[in-house]
Amino acid sequence: MKNTLSIFFLCISMSLFSQKEQITGPNTKLQLNVEMIDGKPVYSVSYEEIIVIEKAPLGFVTNEGDFVENLVFVEAKKDRVSKTYTQDKIKQSQVTYKANTLRYTLKDSKERVFSVLFQVSDNDIAFRYEIDKWGDTRAIVVEQEHTGFSFPDETTTFLSIDMRPMTGFARTAPSYESAYQADQPIAEQKAPGGYVFPGLFKVKNEFWVLLSETGVRSLYAASHLSAYNNGTFHVEYPSEKENNGFGSSGGQLGLPGVTPWRTITLGKSLKPIVETTIPWDVVEPLYEPSQDYEYGKGSWSWIIWQDASMNYEDQKAYIDLAAAMDFKYILIDAWWDERIGYEKMKELIDYAASKDVGVFLWYNSNGIINDAFQTPLNKMNTSIERKQEMQWLKEAGVKGLKVDFFGGDKQETMRLYEDILSDANDYGLMIVFHGTTLPRGWERMYPNFVGSEAVVASEMLVFVEDVRKKEAYNASMHPFIRNAVGSMEFGGVVLNDYLNRGNKSGQKRLTTDAFQLATGVLFQNPLQFLALTPNNLDDAPQFELDFLKKLPTTWDETRFIDGYPGKFSVLARRQADTWYVAGINAEAQPKKLNLNLPFLAGKTVTLINDDKNSETFTKTIKIPKNGKLALTVQSGGGFTLVNE
Ligand code: CA
Repeated sequence: MKNTLSIFFLCISMSLFSQKEQITGPNTKLQLNVEMIDGKPVYSVSYEEIIVIEKAPLGFVTNEGDFVENLVFVEAKKDRVSKTYTQDKIKQSQVTYKANTLRYTLKDSKERVFSVLFQVSDNDIAFRYEIDKWGDTRAIVVEQEHTGFSFPDETTTFLSIDMRPMTGFARTAPSYESAYQADQPIAEQKAPGGYVFPGLFKVKNEFWVLLSETGVRSLYAASHLSAYNNGTFHVEYPSEKENNGFGSSGGQLGLPGVTPWRTITLGKSLKPIVETTIPWDVVEPLYEPSQDYEYGKGSWSWIIWQDASMNYEDQKAYIDLAAAMDFKYILIDAWWDERIGYEKMKELIDYAASKDVGVFLWYNSNGIINDAFQTPLNKMNTSIERKQEMQWLKEAGVKGLKVDFFGGDKQETMRLYEDILSDANDYGLMIVFHGTTLPRGWERMYPNFVGSEAVVASEMLVFVEDVRKKEAYNASMHPFIRNAVGSMEFGGVVLNDYLNRGNKSGQKRLTTDAFQLATGVLFQNPLQFLALTPNNLDDAPQFELDFLKKLPTTWDETRFIDGYPGKFSVLARRQADTWYVAGINAEAQPKKLNLNLPFLAGKTVTLINDDKNSETFTKTIKIPKNGKLALTVQSGGGFTLVNE
């Protein structure tokens, strides 16, 4: 009787004191709801009053105790944020961010307080935990999160599995190089290691949702999505097995402290996802740039000519290629220290400088966490070696580094990323990461960060036939998923017929020239090392070379035009007054597009496209006054439009 009575009163108190709070974005379409159910905080998300993310758990487990249940509501505070910033390395150069905020504060039975801070803008929600000082406790470890994302059953997924640690080439996984699978049934997403951020979801055939994470730096681990379990994906920390089992997988946090932001981008089309700036809206630069860094295109021998090209003469040929193409840079990849040597490298750097070409050099990130053997090794993982090396690099006139083969997402790896970036800025060096995690707001946080791979990139087109067959399929997804939340250093635009030095047989390219040129626009990174080879100066049509000479790598604006991940994708990007519209077709049949391009209405544009035989051609056309243009894109083909 006593039990029944207490349950009765518990039910009464729950309904009266469920502490329901809600906020919407400024245009009121996107709505976030938070409440307490049986001592547990849960949230849900709706758009135009339709539930898109169902009631999902919040909370975390620390070495000082669990903050998941038996929690007591303290208060809810509402406010708003508004800011305008400029950012020259992302999809858009001027950004205005406006959000309504809700700080939902809870405590446990020992009076230990934490809040969930939600920021809701028109199509994005960013949220994080903010943990107060707990008495004398100033240091905790967050071991696990209960944060979840619960989707209706009528949801399909576009996810990429988190590669199993210490597998793959020289045990360098995970490196965010497993391909995305389009339109999969949500109930089947049971990969034991879960799925990397970002993840895309199509809900009720009506809504698109992109989940990601931002603001991860040396002060926390990077997380990912768990396997789907009981209707929910949870935020999961890195596998203990990463970095050969060394280092913990949770977040070591000083109090007061905050977790990284988790982000939800939501809309009724792919437009809010293509155009979102949420990864950068909620972070700030962590230091000042030591100089004005210049972005642009570069040549890169390794991608097609491979290891055998790591010699003085071939690198000279690629410097000449960069100069002929008006590219700013050359990237000289692994083995340069052994096969060219520091002394001759200095000569090459001087030769490049005489042609107005800046040099990027490759480095192995480590010498201790996996079996990657390419040199230079052991130069980037300790501050003593790193600063010595960077002093030489600065004196030699090197402009930047590509650092490869990181060990995963543990906090100690995040520290290594940040230490490399921060030291490099002191020596005036830009940094590109390969074999790497997703950049999480880094374009804004680190002024000399200029892109990460974290994708099935051009190298896999060379190495794996199946990836070559799926080139268009994979490419059609990047603008809507991976590249929507971070710069993507893909290393593409191949004009060779075969992806090797002989260019006569072997790894045949299965996409058209127009497709390749279109990816130069679709794939966004402030620095693009393109896969051209010196012979392309003679064997590629002049109009294709001219297109690449002029192609910008930074943009003032990016717009979604059309597409469906896994099928086709069309975007428009603007630099100053010049619009680049680009599209590709991954379907087996030619695709007829009816494009709506009001910004080009009545304008004369240069079209590059493929004919019925998949031969790439160019012509000048006029966009009708109504801004509508009908266009056919061949299977494995593409197009670009550029106004005069
Ligand atoms: Ca790679």
